[in-house]
Amino acid sequence: MKRIGVLTSGGDAPGMNAAVRAVVRKAIYHDVEVYGVYGGYSGLMNGNIEKLELGSVGDIIHRGGTMLLSARCEEFKTKEGQLKGIEQLKLAGIEGLVVIGGDGSYRGAKALTELGFPCVGVPGTIDNDIPGTQYTIGFDTALNTVIEAVDKIRDTAQSHERAFVIEVMGRNAGDLALWSGLAGGAETILIPEDNYDMNDICQRLIKSQERGKKHSIIIVAEGVASGVEFGKQIKERTDFDTRVSILGHIQRGGSPTAFDRVLASRLGARAVELLLKGKGGRAVGMKNNQVIDNDIADILGEAHTVDMNLLTLSKELSI
Ligand code: ADP
Repeated sequence: MKRIGVLTSGGDAPGMNAAVRAVVRKAIYHDVEVYGVYGGYSGLMNGNIEKLELGSVGDIIHRGGTMLLSARCEEFKTKEGQLKGIEQLKLAGIEGLVVIGGDGSYRGAKALTELGFPCVGVPGTIDNDIPGTQYTIGFDTALNTVIEAVDKIRDTAQSHERAFVIEVMGRNAGDLALWSGLAGGAETILIPEDNYDMNDICQRLIKSQERGKKHSIIIVAEGVASGVEFGKQIKERTDFDTRVSILGHIQRGGSPTAFDRVLASRLGARAVELLLKGKGGRAVGMKNNQVIDNDIADILGEAHTVDMNLLTLSKELSI
């Protein structure tokens, strides 16, 4: 393989730039040319492709977002859209593609591979919801962003003796809520993977108040319930003066943590190695601090699981 492409797709995540940098530098190190596809699969279908040099990825390792831009593209879910993409790649003389993104982006990479164009997936999403890897690029940064906010909210919650409902990202995956709840000392954590009972939650809050706890932090993943609605119910059912804070898109931005930069560098480099060995249809990941790769179809066939022991531990520690 003498020329490869790289794109970022789906929800952006801090550390995507560090992954792009790793792909570009690793490929050039091996005398392979690299082309950047701008704007995800949408840009791919439109031939928005440009050559990247060593200097093209200078000064980006510490930046959030993605220099290659990202997009969501319905048309790419069709075979016609995918064939258009392949046509553009072939026009540019590209022989393999690194796709940095979440499970939706992986589906696109799998489809291209099945149509004969080798792709390797790199997990880039703040949700940490991709099977086959313990961590996804961006999760650690988003987690630290949430923790910074929780710590600040805790100060004001304590001063005013209030209960705070903090809504964090995570439509289908509770990792961000779970980890931030445990790290932030939240009294209650609600994740999509677990059922909850409003009476139970309110009873716990009331009991903690009776024991002398004057404030409380409740972390809700967006996929469980609207923070506003949840806050309303707590206000109605307990004596707590309740406020709601929705963290929103700040969770997707910011300079990537050292952890995410190292992860992105390792995973991006491995993706290039796989393509150079002619191994398309793979997805890279991290297991026991070792870089691994799996069949992308296997990854997509697996369900993401959260570590429920963390939820139990949080309950034990937040009484
Ligand atoms: P993420 O990659 O963060 O999970 P999305 O789920 O929005 O984000 O997917 C990103 C893009 O990947 C979609 O807009 C679409 O272009 C492409 N994609 C998603 N699902 C498929 C699919 N089944 N087949 C082909 N492409 C897909």
